[in-house]
Amino acid sequence: MAGRYGMHKFPRITLLFLPVLFVSCNLAVAPAAPSPTRSPTEALTPTVTPTLTETPTPSPTPRPTADRVVIISIDGLRPDGLLQANIPRISELINGGSATFTARTILPSATLPAHASMVSGRCVSKHGILWNDLIPSEEPLQGATVFSIAKDAGMRTVMVVGKEKLITLARPGTVDTFRYVNGSDEDIVQKALQEASGGFGVLFVHLILPDFYGHLTGWMSPEYIRGIGRDDAAVGTLLDGLRAGGLLDRAIVILTADHGGHGLTHGTYQKEDMTIPWIIYGFGVSEGVPIDVPVSIMDTAATAVWGLGLGIPADWDGRPVVEAFGLQADLLPVATASATRCGI
Ligand SMILES: [Zn+2]
Repeated sequence: MAGRYGMHKFPRITLLFLPVLFVSCNLAVAPAAPSPTRSPTEALTPTVTPTLTETPTPSPTPRPTADRVVIISIDGLRPDGLLQANIPRISELINGGSATFTARTILPSATLPAHASMVSGRCVSKHGILWNDLIPSEEPLQGATVFSIAKDAGMRTVMVVGKEKLITLARPGTVDTFRYVNGSDEDIVQKALQEASGGFGVLFVHLILPDFYGHLTGWMSPEYIRGIGRDDAAVGTLLDGLRAGGLLDRAIVILTADHGGHGLTHGTYQKEDMTIPWIIYGFGVSEGVPIDVPVSIMDTAATAVWGLGLGIPADWDGRPVVEAFGLQADLLPVATASATRCGI
């Protein structure tokens, strides 16, 4: 890997162990102003002539918004594992976009609760998905998600996943196409490309090989590291296919993970379980710039929604990582980054 990240040098992980008492879970983000698109005929519509006593209200320059977002979640991907692996394709995203290797997931650092926070922008205490198995009798994820918001805006939403339990995130009416692939990560990518060819506003792709080897031979084992390398190739296939179809034009790609792991397991507050990579690339994203603000897994949904020019619900705990776009939070109607969220 070249560029400002150095040659596979893993930045020192700095975790802030702040008191958890009295930390609320209500980092509200003001909804962004919608950015309506106008047809040429609308410009011809007569408008009310302002009187001389009216004071013009300055309006900010409309921010160009992306047409689509691709979220790639690699199950169990530790950032230090990522940086030990052979990752030429993911390095393209890192060096051509913005990244942090000290982002944080939620507690419990387990697949279903963490993915629920990833796509809903909310703390576990709000979304309530504390279980980690497919329980059909339980209600699916309630409230707004990146899928429901995009769908309400008329966009097609697609999920292609390697674990069936993630259907818990696809509340009926919010995900147009949900595909569980009981196969390899290469199979998952091929299915994702097949589904993406019909167009989409949000494409969520879930790869599972690092988590598989983590549980089988241990996190950071040689097999685990090689598994990351295989997923790097799968990510490359996905990006190549999307690009060939013109589906990466005006698109934002976010590559992250649900949790890390240690030994043969995960789920704890240990930094090896809690620390995840968060890489963003594409339309409007600064190129080759490290993200130096705290990033939470919940920021994934908020950044996707914001990137699409849609409003972020006021009860979300995630915030858009505007710093990755070369912007400053204190100049925008968005919350600034916080090192502690959800009281963790
Ligand atoms: Zn997982």
